[in-house]
Amino acid sequence: MGSKILFLIGGMVFATEVVWQLYKRLYNPRNGRIPLTIAKKPEQNISEVMFFSRESSFCRAHVNNNEACLKSTCPVQYLRRMEGYINRAEKRLDVCMYVLTCQLLSKAIVNAHKRGVIVNIILDRRMACTDSSQTALFHGNGIAVRMQELDVLMHHKFVIVDNEIVITGSVNWTMSAFFGNFENILVTNQPSIVLPFVEEFDKLWKLLEYPIESESEGNRRRLPFNPTKGIMWNM
Ligand SMILES: [Zn+2]
Repeated sequence: MGSKILFLIGGMVFATEVVWQLYKRLYNPRNGRIPLTIAKKPEQNISEVMFFSRESSFCRAHVNNNEACLKSTCPVQYLRRMEGYINRAEKRLDVCMYVLTCQLLSKAIVNAHKRGVIVNIILDRRMACTDSSQTALFHGNGIAVRMQELDVLMHHKFVIVDNEIVITGSVNWTMSAFFGNFENILVTNQPSIVLPFVEEFDKLWKLLEYPIESESEGNRRRLPFNPTKGIMWNM
């Protein structure tokens, strides 16, 4: 009898310790939340940098075929890798992009939506209304797109895959940027970098739910920073 009780107590102590260790590992002291999807250990370390340059324009000729390219910095290979990251999405894909006109990557985003991934897209309203923008494609496929009239640019260029991988950098997702500009892209699944991007996206997503009132000229002159909306004015 006594050994049974001892065994029971021992089991409870062990279970409590396991729960405590898990809690310490997952708890995020910054916001008190337990971001389960981020806190789980990454399967592998993703850390990749891509550079685009003037010479990238020479590769545009083979963008639509499977021709092998000897250049280690081939933008077509980079595009395929970016497409591969989007194709990995299983649960959620968050896109925040100033200009998004690249059809290859737009199709990958739509395909993610079609296979049941929750896709949320934030665009700059003015750039989203240009002819080459993919906004109509996203809307037509029932993807949630948020953009509001702002007195500043929605100038971000980042995409988050399953709250686990961030693709960011200088480049807008346009063919002219991929094939001719000096640009960079960083891909990482480092939680300390991914988490702030997830939080920023969630913040922007809520902010853009309803039209944002424009402030009076007087307020703009007085305040370089709008504390209620967290927006820097153009100075
Ligand atoms: Zn190439």
